[in-house]
Amino acid sequence: MTADFFHEGQLVGVLTTQPLDRLLDYKAPEGGCWLGAFVEVPLGPRKVLGVVWGAGQGNFDLSKIRSVNRVLEAAPMREEMRNFLGRVADYTLTPMPAMLRLATRAPGLGDAPSMRKVYRLGDAAPERLTEARARVLEVLRDYGGLSFTLGELAEAAGVGTSVVKGLVTQGAVREEDTPRDTPYPALDPDLAGKSLADDQAASAEILREGVRSGRYGTTLLQGVTGSGKTEVYLEAVAECLRQGRQALVLLPEIALTNEFIHRVEARFGMPPAEWHSGVTLTERRRCWRMVGQGAAQLVVGARSALYLPFRDLGLIVVDEEHDTSYKQEDGVVYNARDMAVLRASLNEAQVVLASATPSLESWANVEAGKYRKLELTSRFGAAVMPKMSAIDMRVEDVPSGRWISPSLQAAINDRTQKGEQSLIFLNRRGYAPVTLCRACGHQIGCDHCDARMVEHRFLKRLVCHQCGETKPMPAACPSCGVEGKLAPVGPGVERMAEEVAAVFPESRVTVLSSDLFGSARALKEAIANIAEGGTDIIIGTQLVAKGHNFPLLTLVGVIDADLGLQGSDLRAAERTFQLMRQVAGRAGRAETPGEALLQTYQPEHPVIRAILSGDEEGFWSAEAAARKAAGVPPYGRMAGIVLSSPNVQEVFDLGSEMARRIEPLRRIGAEVYGPAPAPIARIRGRHRVRLLVKADKAAPIQAALAEWVGQFKLPTNLRLTIDIDPQSFY
Ligand code: ADP
Ligand code: ZN
Repeated sequence: MTADFFHEGQLVGVLTTQPLDRLLDYKAPEGGCWLGAFVEVPLGPRKVLGVVWGAGQGNFDLSKIRSVNRVLEAAPMREEMRNFLGRVADYTLTPMPAMLRLATRAPGLGDAPSMRKVYRLGDAAPERLTEARARVLEVLRDYGGLSFTLGELAEAAGVGTSVVKGLVTQGAVREEDTPRDTPYPALDPDLAGKSLADDQAASAEILREGVRSGRYGTTLLQGVTGSGKTEVYLEAVAECLRQGRQALVLLPEIALTNEFIHRVEARFGMPPAEWHSGVTLTERRRCWRMVGQGAAQLVVGARSALYLPFRDLGLIVVDEEHDTSYKQEDGVVYNARDMAVLRASLNEAQVVLASATPSLESWANVEAGKYRKLELTSRFGAAVMPKMSAIDMRVEDVPSGRWISPSLQAAINDRTQKGEQSLIFLNRRGYAPVTLCRACGHQIGCDHCDARMVEHRFLKRLVCHQCGETKPMPAACPSCGVEGKLAPVGPGVERMAEEVAAVFPESRVTVLSSDLFGSARALKEAIANIAEGGTDIIIGTQLVAKGHNFPLLTLVGVIDADLGLQGSDLRAAERTFQLMRQVAGRAGRAETPGEALLQTYQPEHPVIRAILSGDEEGFWSAEAAARKAAGVPPYGRMAGIVLSSPNVQEVFDLGSEMARRIEPLRRIGAEVYGPAPAPIARIRGRHRVRLLVKADKAAPIQAALAEWVGQFKLPTNLRLTIDIDPQSFY
């Protein structure tokens, strides 16, 4: 058994954030340290962050072992968190130092002084009121009771810090010590929520019971957009706060947070703590610390909030649980939804997965009896899922270079005349996905990737959507040199805007595409403008599929419903089904009934038919049967291994060698496919080769993978990434 406390001089094993494959031994510092303590340790000439992970091994010359520099002012990492990081590391085959980095993503954790000086208005009048002094006092008066740091105050007043110091000496400005990181204001779970409809109230009560049980459990909360999922799970949050435990709400997108924060504030009287890339560094550190002290009751955050050091996490809500952005693809490859379930199970906490269109994984877990399912059947208010139908593009008469069918055009005209809004959905940014030379047939590609460059007229450039490389549109074909023959092929949203302007010259049009807005604020303004009726026709990419509320929108026209069905992706059907239903769900949120029209060349395709009929259970059963038959997730295990290097020979050589020496995988009955060029065979100048490993659901795939990969020595420039349960195949 490991002791929980180490006295000065005892050996401790420290996990650091440095890429080493073992714990390092140190002597406990003066005053000793707790197991789990965050510490600063010397490593060569540097000082690095670490956590006391256990007793030291003492395998080295004891006289050479150095002491921990100091214990940081932070709550020690709890056993639950240490277990959690270990389990994620094992599951995703991630080295522990990388896990620790993920769990300490806040700046200045090691900063010693936990107090800082702040400045407020004092009682005395200054002896001599110079212009500079007057400005300082004016700033302090303007901001009422707010306190400033020295630097902030000097800057706000446009004076040197000595001016402020002078005023302090005279008592005109007060200098005070305050804790650097302050607790978050208390939330009140007992403020009145909305009065819930019957099915909402019943679901809320079941979730509350789960929270009260103090045990682990996962619930899938399904209901179309607007059915009140958020209202319902906020009641679970309220119960969690009443129990004195902490709650975490994960959201897929920063863009959603602001509207959401206001709702939380309305429900609980105060805003929650926030954790996402838009939060300042100071605020991040405050959040990290306060969460650890239990001085933040509720965190609303992006996926990495899952690694905050909660003191007692009682509830995790994963909103839009099907969203692919929960799958982190860089660095540590993990799925935040699955890891949320893991963390909750280690801490006797509840999980609520909310979605209008759950993932097949969650659906299957409900089928298997692992998750409970609650369904909100009616939209709050009255409206229902819009009427959905196909426009058969094989019989529509659409001129070349145009994509809006006469049927869709008529429907849009009809809505515009009634003063209602239409959404034209096309999940393609830019002007045209392909630029073709009409003289030689050449298509302009990226110099660094195996991808075509996408024309962005708004930017007046060609852009690679893989690596972000841009270049001006050339006058002559880079291949044959003929001038004036380059032509755009296919539509992007910018090109749709041109067509809409030509077809509906009277209408006001807004294009919503992530790259057309310089800032989150500009996007928010555009969204607010639409909600207020400032536009007739919206042209949008999947940006619009996410939770924005447009009360006047009653028609959704999908330009190319077949788009997502192409390609070899395991989840193509699932994704298309979900995306189409989400987009359609934008129409008719309020009292006005909505309609969705899907332009398609294959109206008999089973996925298109399932979308139109809205037979969700039917779709999932068929999809589940197909995946079961193929032995793929969620009914089998898969891992994607991507080798990449600037040297094409090296990746293929290693890939072939790996495919030959598969004894560790064979032992667990796993199959290996490849090596094959990855679907995108080159990104940023690195050649990519892919192997796929497939195994039974119960097979111990991680250990086998680790042993298999461990056999090979990687050339210096070659990178190997392992993706367990891959979501995308690129
Ligand atoms: P979802 O999360 O399923 O999309 P929301 O919880 O956001 O649904 O609810 C949609 C809208 O309806 C929100 O504006 C919400 O405040 C409102 N709403 C939902 N349920 C109620 C209720 N019982 N009383 C009043 N308003 C409600
Ligand atoms: Zn590129």
